[in-house]
Amino acid sequence: MARSHTSGLSKSLILKGLQCRKALWLTRNPPAFELPPQPARDALFSAGTEVGILARQLYPGGREVPFEGLSIPAQLARTKELLASDVEVIYEAAFSFSAIFIKVDILVRDGDSWQLHEVKMSSAVKSVHLDDVAVQHYVLNGCGIKVSKAVLIHLDRSYCRGEELEIQRLFHSEEITTKVKARQQSLPEIVIECRQTLGEYREPAIPIGPHCTDPYQCEFIPYCWRQVPTPSVFDLPGDAADKFAFYRRGLSSFAELPLAELEPRQRQQVEAFLNRTRNIDQQRLKEFLARIRYPLCCLDLTGVSTALPLFAGTRPYQPLPFLFAVHRQSSPDDPPEQVSFLAEPGRDPRSQLARELLAAIPASACVLTCNPTVDRNLLSDLATRYPELAPAIEQRLANLQDLLTPFRNRWIDDWRMNSVETLSDVLPALGIDLPAPVTALTDEGAAQRAYLACQASTDPAQQEQLQRELLSYAEQNGLTMVRVLQELRNLARH
Ligand code: SF4
Repeated sequence: MARSHTSGLSKSLILKGLQCRKALWLTRNPPAFELPPQPARDALFSAGTEVGILARQLYPGGREVPFEGLSIPAQLARTKELLASDVEVIYEAAFSFSAIFIKVDILVRDGDSWQLHEVKMSSAVKSVHLDDVAVQHYVLNGCGIKVSKAVLIHLDRSYCRGEELEIQRLFHSEEITTKVKARQQSLPEIVIECRQTLGEYREPAIPIGPHCTDPYQCEFIPYCWRQVPTPSVFDLPGDAADKFAFYRRGLSSFAELPLAELEPRQRQQVEAFLNRTRNIDQQRLKEFLARIRYPLCCLDLTGVSTALPLFAGTRPYQPLPFLFAVHRQSSPDDPPEQVSFLAEPGRDPRSQLARELLAAIPASACVLTCNPTVDRNLLSDLATRYPELAPAIEQRLANLQDLLTPFRNRWIDDWRMNSVETLSDVLPALGIDLPAPVTALTDEGAAQRAYLACQASTDPAQQEQLQRELLSYAEQNGLTMVRVLQELRNLARH
């Protein structure tokens, strides 16, 4: 049964409906379920807003129709006034057609027509962007506004910033008029479907699927995925499509999965869980440990990548190391000696970090990490940036070992261990209970956001607090690595 009203829509609601009808419905009918805070998502939105405002400098001197502080009718009226005036550029112009409300990032007068510019923080045009601009184009047409061209403005990853951001080079504009017009034809039907969905009395029965994260991470994941047991088919290694195929057959907990249909590594993990077993390949573990020599450094290195390059000589989305902790031991019985580094706010960290890292890690040391791919990329970037340090950095890179190798290869296969991505994934398998956390930063994403907050803050007390948290985060990770290595040695003795 459906409700009879015709619902007002917005561009973001239509895009949500295109991704998942249930997400559209839930936006209007929030579930009786407290969604947890989603700081990564919030940070992404803030970054998008910052990029959008910066792109206005491509067409300076425009007039803005603000969203905050103005009702929808007031925004529409303000836009009408500006269109009728001699204003050449309008930011956030508001339009409504067929009860669909949209805001246009940048509207540029072009004779008796207007150019429609949409700003995205991505580094290429994506399919969802074409849908986004198609909705705007459709509404503008409906309002009788002639659109001479539709343009997507996105970041140019090849741009290397100087002392100042050069806006013309930071952004790349791509005309998408023809593609947008082609998509626009299906919009009336899409709009009808969205309205039908919003008119439903009951939550649409849409199962979870790859659409939960594509094209965007859906905000309702904690709600819709709450029924998925732990562990489930999604904790197994392998192809996501195959996992959803099991899920759609009603097979998700380990007990339900048909062992005969699983890949060998998946079957191994499921059987270990069901039988509560721990299997250790002693020979391979011993071979691995034999490659760990002293002096030894456990390295926890953290980097961040931002849409807007933060410092001279960096590009959009270029990963930038800003924090490390090194725990150094000359022999297995030595207490670890700790060295850490955190970038100062407002300063390119790379030169000082590279030098301090080299000072902290002896050239001959074996370097243990839990993120070999990321660390290799960060260190290789430093070697390229500072050729005079390249030989020394290359030496450390040659000595890099992945501490999680025995777990990733399941030479240690414990029923409490699911897929292995990070250090914390392996702790249950070793029975390691960490002491109460000394910092609120519990993962890399939180550390990255804290660093960026520290960069943006003008409050010395807040900066100091964030810096303390960041150093504690890295130091705790380093100490945990030392502990994991000890446990590996204990296991190899049995
Ligand atoms: S979590 Fe998935 S199924 Fe649920 S609303 Fe979002 S996209 Fe739809």
